[in-house]
Amino acid sequence: MSDSAALPLVDLRELRLETAHALVDQASGLATALLREGPCRYLQGLIDGLCELSLKDPLTGLANRRHFRAVLEGEIDRVTRSGEAALLLMLDIDHFKQVNDTHGHAVGDLVLQSVARTLAGCVRPMDTLARYGGEEFAVVLPSCQATFGRVVAERIRLAIANTPIRISPTEELHITVSIGGAFALQWIRSTTLLWTDRADHQLYLAKAAGRNRLSIEAQPDSTVSAEEKSLLFGSLNMPPAWEDPPQEDVPGSVN
Ligand code: GH3
Ligand code: MG
Ligand code: MG
Repeated sequence: MSDSAALPLVDLRELRLETAHALVDQASGLATALLREGPCRYLQGLIDGLCELSLKDPLTGLANRRHFRAVLEGEIDRVTRSGEAALLLMLDIDHFKQVNDTHGHAVGDLVLQSVARTLAGCVRPMDTLARYGGEEFAVVLPSCQATFGRVVAERIRLAIANTPIRISPTEELHITVSIGGAFALQWIRSTTLLWTDRADHQLYLAKAAGRNRLSIEAQPDSTVSAEEKSLLFGSLNMPPAWEDPPQEDVPGSVN
């Protein structure tokens, strides 16, 4: 007997699916169509639709903070194992409160959507973009060397500054962002909290230095030499996946 044959059958009529159906239908318009494809496809469609909704920011369609955190955790694992560089950028719209105060919340929302679209045009398919908070966005760039990271961050800054946002037939807004960046520590297991704190600190420096600029932490010298690696991990060059790597010693930020 296979595992799936051992699962008890579920009668959909015994489940309360109205809210899930309405949510998925509202987001994708697909729930009613799925009903015609049989109970199994329908239920799977509702589950997939709800998962999708729980990972996305509804205003911009970008990854939400929960999803982003999971992506960062995966990236920390990868960097710990492979030693490849990965960059986290935190972006914050400059003087965004003024947009809301002058033009209203709906225009503020339009600005957020426009920034999200511009960001999406600046990154690679392998990068993850998120709306991190109110007017704050985050990007994680796997396999990203220091010079490339700076180029991408500058490209993002310029793209946003050079994309006017039409808010009425006669009016356009010009907005800017400040960007802070920090590389993941290589070969050392960090935490999402420490990584985001380091990028946030750089964002604070970019704001304090006048806004519409980048501040990226110099890549921390956490790459251990072959000799150090053999001391740390025995004769192997890489730590076995089942072993806990050493804890991080957070470097001071250097610009
Ligand atoms: P700074 O350059 O220092 O970042 O200044 P700021 O005005 O951008 O920052 P501040 O934190 O003072 O204001 C952020 C504003 O973002 C306040 C809040 O009402 C607005 N905001 C947060 N989430 C949303 C949203 O979803 N939609 C809109 N329209 N506004 C939002
Ligand atoms: Mg902010
Ligand atoms: Mg802001």
